[in-house]
Amino acid sequence: MSQPDIHCIFCKIAAGAIPSRKVYEDEEFFAFHDIHPAAPVHLLIIPKAHIDSLAQVGPAHEGLLGRMLLLAPRLALEQGCKPYPEGGFRTVVNTGQEGGQEVHHLHLHVMGGPRPWLRG
Ligand code: AMP
Ligand code: ZN
Repeated sequence: MSQPDIHCIFCKIAAGAIPSRKVYEDEEFFAFHDIHPAAPVHLLIIPKAHIDSLAQVGPAHEGLLGRMLLLAPRLALEQGCKPYPEGGFRTVVNTGQEGGQEVHHLHLHVMGGPRPWLRG
């Protein structure tokens, strides 16, 4: 599950091998601006460990998933989303082909900012 995948673009971004507009990093997570933002604020939060998708997680990932979700409100506010309830943000995890997943490294989309948005 967790070995960096040398062919995975998000593993490369987390390792700094491919440039990104980083907004946050700790031992476990890396967050950066989506290259094709669907909203004025559009961040991606990824675990540094390679996990293909939300379909691959189990009880062992409970803590990781909780900590990843906890980063969303914090980074959303730091990156300019207005506070709840007037502001807020949308969180999305696309899973699998029919779920609309294009990059097969688990990631949490965090989107926010004034509407209308480009998509959604
Ligand atoms: P998904 O469809 O949920 O797999 O989303 C993948 C997201 O990754 C899309 O919103 C892409 O715009 C974004 N993306 C792909 N390549 C990069 C990159 N090199 N830097 C930043 N975002 C990227
Ligand atoms: Zn990966």
